[in-house]
Amino acid sequence: MSEASCIFCKIVAGDIPANFIHRDDEIVAIADVNPQAPRHVLVLPVRHAANVIEFAATADAEVVQKLLRVAGKIGSEDPGGFRLVMNTGPEGGQTVDHLHIHVLGGRPMTWPPG
Ligand code: 5GP
Ligand code: ZN
Repeated sequence: MSEASCIFCKIVAGDIPANFIHRDDEIVAIADVNPQAPRHVLVLPVRHAANVIEFAATADAEVVQKLLRVAGKIGSEDPGGFRLVMNTGPEGGQTVDHLHIHVLGGRPMTWPPG
């Protein structure tokens, strides 16, 4: 299930190029085109879901688990720690409506976020 206008569905389909960090039948991870940290990877389900609410309501439990596992594994490559972010909705800073986890690492993170 993919959405014709969705950038990330196009990346999954191979219609837009990306630097793939991980790829299997259910989950892909790509380098963010506009990195905000030395490591900035986007981890997303192959099957389109607009946001975390829709994903949690429709995805199989194994896929939810796998998404977190892949994100945690990539984050763990930064031994000092890392940050996972899921921007949701316009005021949450979401600009691509296909659920993705930002994995940010390689520098100290500040809090609160902007
Ligand atoms: P959001 O703003 O929805 O939380 O995150 C969307 C992210 O997707 C942004 O960090 C943005 O840089 C990234 N992005 C947008 N278009 C593309 C693209 O075509 N390729 C890749 N690799 N990343 C993209
Ligand atoms: Zn999509």
